[in-house]
Order: sequence, then structure tokens, then C-alpha cells
Amino acid sequence: MISSLFSFFKKFRHCKFHIFKKAINQCQICEEILCSQCSHSFGNLNFCPAHANLYENNKWVAVKRATTDSESSEQAIKIYDLKENLWERKSIPSYLVTEYKVNEIKNLIESHITLFCLESDVEYFKV
Ligand SMILES: [Zn+2]
Ligand SMILES: [Zn+2]
Repeated sequence: MISSLFSFFKKFRHCKFHIFKKAINQCQICEEILCSQCSHSFGNLNFCPAHANLYENNKWVAVKRATTDSESSEQAIKIYDLKENLWERKSIPSYLVTEYKVNEIKNLIESHITLFCLESDVEYFKV
């Protein structure tokens, strides 16, 4: 579902910093969409120039985790909301790492979501 969302962005959106360049990624912290020149990748993570710098020069810690499948996504939604609220209201940066695993007993794909924040911001995420 997330990858189809990305292909939607690829078709219709343009880089936040270059209106004539096609966006190929989204910053994991501020969610601005970025062209190849503005997108800085670290493994599966992509950041805008400012947040690539923030990512590289700070210590990040895992503050929240959730496992979801097609039947339950409540926990993950709470984490997405927390991330969004803290960014929009207080400019506190965080990013999500999602890993997919096959649950052979239930015969479905689970996603394991981990939210990372700056070591100094951990208190804000304890809700
Ligand atoms: Zn950013
Ligand atoms: Zn750009």
C-alpha cells in the first residue's frame, strides 16, 4: 500500500525545492517530497538536505514499536499520529522504520514499525 502511494507521488508531484523536477522520494522526518538531487538516502531511509544532516550528526534511539497485520493496525496508527503531532506542533523530529515479515502460522505479512527520535527528545514520546 505504501509503495503504491509512492508511485502516485512520483507521477503527480514535484520536488519541494525544484518545481520543475520530479519528486522521487519523501523525507522521513518532514514528509516533504524531493527530487533525486535533494533526496539523501541512508539504506532505506530518505531525508531532505537539512534532515539528512540532522540524521547523520545525532544519536537516535528507538522509542516506540508496533507490529501490525491486515487485521490490526491500531497501534501503528497511534505511532503515526504521535509522530505527526510532535512534528507539526512542536517541530520535534522522528522517523519510522518499517520491516515486513511473513507470519507463517497466520499466513499473512506483518509489518514491524519502529519510531526513532533524538536521544534528547525521548521524554516527549512517553505518552
Ligand atoms: Zn525533511
Ligand atoms: Zn529538488
